[in-house]
Amino acid sequence: MSARYAVIGNPVAHSKSPWIHAQFARATGQDMVYEAIEAPLDGFARTVGEFRAAGGRGANVTLPFKEQAYIYCRATSERANAARAVNTLVLDRVETWGDNTDGVGLVRDLEANLGVALADKRVLVLGAGGAAQGVLQPLQAAGVGRLVVVNRTVGRARELAARFPGVEACSYPDIKARAFDLVLNATSAGLRGELPPLPAEAASTLFAPGALAYDMVYGRDTPFLAYARSAGARTSDGAGMLVEQAAESFLIWRGVRPNTRAVLAALRAH
Ligand code: NAP
Repeated sequence: MSARYAVIGNPVAHSKSPWIHAQFARATGQDMVYEAIEAPLDGFARTVGEFRAAGGRGANVTLPFKEQAYIYCRATSERANAARAVNTLVLDRVETWGDNTDGVGLVRDLEANLGVALADKRVLVLGAGGAAQGVLQPLQAAGVGRLVVVNRTVGRARELAARFPGVEACSYPDIKARAFDLVLNATSAGLRGELPPLPAEAASTLFAPGALAYDMVYGRDTPFLAYARSAGARTSDGAGMLVEQAAESFLIWRGVRPNTRAVLAALRAH
């Protein structure tokens, strides 16, 4: 019988993960199936339990359950502990084990696919939600020189700065005269066609020469990407992060790292 995997979220019908993992399985000759399971908002643990009882070997976890998944796991990786969130469950061990591959997926997309050498770079992260939390430790591990978090609710940025030594917090008005080599939009603003409240006068200074503007939202041209383009920055959406975090989960489950380039190109063409 094929090994069973799934992505669990709510809503989850839009998820590209079943398609991505089907490509990985075909390319690496793994006998597995990967489905999308919508858990009731009050039924995450029950849904995981039922999937495991039905033979599920592992699962990805997406919105809004990543923090609940962290609490659910009996054991977790260092990077899951840093993020306080889990996006990858290993269910075929005695104790459920959880990892977080979002941050390493982002770093791999930046370095391997987009050619950004992160060491010593000045990095600005917009947003202080789950996505931002998941990438701070991997960015620090990649050796970035300066890491600043800006958030609409500035208290949440300050909490992250307190949790991650070396991370600086600031408010949107504070960033007007500063320049960065990489500006990562980890807000959900783009999903609603909104631009984070970057000061108008920042557009000419925010992006250092050769800077990359990266929006974690994928599959659409967001107001942030348009803003960055008009300021002369190079841009990327988050499709590569999505594919790279999936590849890292696949490696954890199957012991094989799939080639991501062809899958990313096919996803973009899709
Ligand atoms: P979240 O926990 O709900 O956090 C949302 C963040 O966005 C908060 O910091 C919030 O600020 C900020 N925000 C929302 N609307 C804003 C606006 N109009 N202006 C300024 N800030 C705004 O969500 P999340 O889990 O961090 O996810 C964020 C995004 O990352 C989502 O769009 C998700 O799809 C994407 N993501 C992509 C990948 C990938 O593989 N590519 C992986 C993970 C996440 P406040 O604190 O002030 O409310």
